[in-house]
Amino acid sequence: MPFRPKDAPKTTTRRTGWVTSELYYWHDTQNWSGFFEPSLTVQPGEHFENPETKRRMNGLVEATGLAPCLHPIRPEPVEEAFLTKVHPQSYLDHLKAVCASGGGDAGQLTPVGPASYEIAQLAVGGVLKAVDAVFTGAVDNAYVLCRPPGHHAMPELAMGFCLLANAALGIKYAQETYGIERIATVDWDVHHGNGTQAIFYDDPSVLTISLHQNNLFPPNSGFIEETGEGAGQGVNLNIPLPPGSGSGAYREAFKEIVLPALEAFKPQAIFVPSGYDASALDPLGIMMLSSEDYRWMIRQVLEVADRHCEGRLIVTHEGGYSATYVPYCGLAVVEEMSGVSDTLEDPFHVHIAGYGGHDLSGDQAKAIQAAKAAYFGE
Ligand code: ZN
Repeated sequence: MPFRPKDAPKTTTRRTGWVTSELYYWHDTQNWSGFFEPSLTVQPGEHFENPETKRRMNGLVEATGLAPCLHPIRPEPVEEAFLTKVHPQSYLDHLKAVCASGGGDAGQLTPVGPASYEIAQLAVGGVLKAVDAVFTGAVDNAYVLCRPPGHHAMPELAMGFCLLANAALGIKYAQETYGIERIATVDWDVHHGNGTQAIFYDDPSVLTISLHQNNLFPPNSGFIEETGEGAGQGVNLNIPLPPGSGSGAYREAFKEIVLPALEAFKPQAIFVPSGYDASALDPLGIMMLSSEDYRWMIRQVLEVADRHCEGRLIVTHEGGYSATYVPYCGLAVVEEMSGVSDTLEDPFHVHIAGYGGHDLSGDQAKAIQAAKAAYFGE
């Protein structure tokens, strides 16, 4: 049993903050099956965005002995006034009203329960605490294992299971509180990070990068032509990849576009809205990544962070709907962030490797070159 977790503390080379809360798992997405209004078309059941994927990741971090090596950070709810830096008060009042009525769809595909607004405030508050810990030097980097997710949240619209713009609010907070200018985001959730893009679309201080499955969610969003506007022209980068993309495509996209864009921008901190729905076992994406690919991607970002911003990196947990596999992908990211050498062998990796189709294909290479040309103007 080479991959059985050994519950013994590990040796780490970086101090990684670990933000989570039992209350994050109490965000109630109700008994919707999939994307549909409750009706007789679909049997009621668990919503895709239920606590299990994240609770099991928290469990695996504990079971492998990694948890005692992390630096626990207890979140506190963000003040509502701070949320208005992104979301108008009328939108916050709307969210509160939906919750107070017992719950329902707060926007587009975003079911909430009675306490979801308060839990969303705690999620943003966790990101702000992570920012404080990183910028005061209490930790080198930080992982926020929160619900609800945030990267689809628009200023005035709840979308795609997201209520509040967790990472974007963290970026605003870091800029205002610690007086830094340039922040980059690298969003590898399989869906387009449309909320983060919209919030910073005309802002030259934030480079928003999204790698995602082409035209998955939201529909008609995340295309290569969306490169920013006004003062923000040229600091929004979309890399839409064909369904079926795996190791080869993601590594090519990093080498050809993501890493050169980061090097040119010279960020003073990096945020990674990290979704694990680009894994080969995810029910909501058709990509092929394994935990080793997530480990490779976070390592690339860590190296950029070391070169440009003293390693300052904040990872916010986004999508990922395979309760079986999200924990292994997330564990690989946290292991790499903390510099653990004694990593857990992913028991699913051998199976995913056996699927084949991981090498860069011609259509994937073409899509990457098109995104590169659209962004760099080559
Ligand atoms: Zn997603």
